[in-house]
Amino acid sequence: MRKSTKRMPKTKPPVVTRPGLLVVLSSPSGAGKTTVAGALLKREPNLVRSVSCTTRPKRKGEKDGKDYFFVTPAQFRSMIRLGEFLEWAKVYRNYYGTPKAWIEAQTSRGRDVLFVIDIQGGQALRKARPDAVRIFLEPPSWRVLVKRLTGRGTEDPEAVRIRLKTAVRELAEAPRYDFRVVADRPAWAAARIGKIIRRARQSRKIGLFHGKGRRGMV
Ligand code: 5GP
Repeated sequence: MRKSTKRMPKTKPPVVTRPGLLVVLSSPSGAGKTTVAGALLKREPNLVRSVSCTTRPKRKGEKDGKDYFFVTPAQFRSMIRLGEFLEWAKVYRNYYGTPKAWIEAQTSRGRDVLFVIDIQGGQALRKARPDAVRIFLEPPSWRVLVKRLTGRGTEDPEAVRIRLKTAVRELAEAPRYDFRVVADRPAWAAARIGKIIRRARQSRKIGLFHGKGRRGMV
């Protein structure tokens, strides 16, 4: 049999792309989510931390667009009216909110977005984006959490009592999350979360772009 001399038409290899994931990392205060998030962002180059809008004044060293988008109360109210937030809350005297457009800009470029947020914020995000991967960061033990929340024992006992009561209520939320990770050592916890994110990336559908604009799903 003669070999066909016909050449296969040259096609560009498809560029594999996918929309980014939303990753919610919540924990009771004192469980060390800020430290773990820092370690995680260092080891996951495709992961960016969500930047919220706030009406509170900029603190020394903070940068607009990096730490927060600093807006006026009038601007914030207008954004609420226009439905520009995924969720928002009033914390003490200031407003904080997650801007949809910024998140969309990141995920459409294939970047995964990390929300380091308290339990209440995590609940609001679950409603707004049920597709988010939700991770609950647990303190290694109740004893460790009490130690972290009570500090050096110099704090007002009533304030400590309220914090512990809140921690009990927040710990009860753990079963509602997709994954639970123990915050033993920040680097270890970050490695475990990294694994969860990579698995979630693989299990999500991958969009294929064939040349200009034709899109299929595998
Ligand atoms: P800070 O002013 O110290 O940066 O933050 C105060 C509080 O606002 C923290 O508890 C923080 O988690 C919360 N916060 C920051 N950004 C957002 C947001 O986009 N949404 C919600 N619900 N809370 C936020």
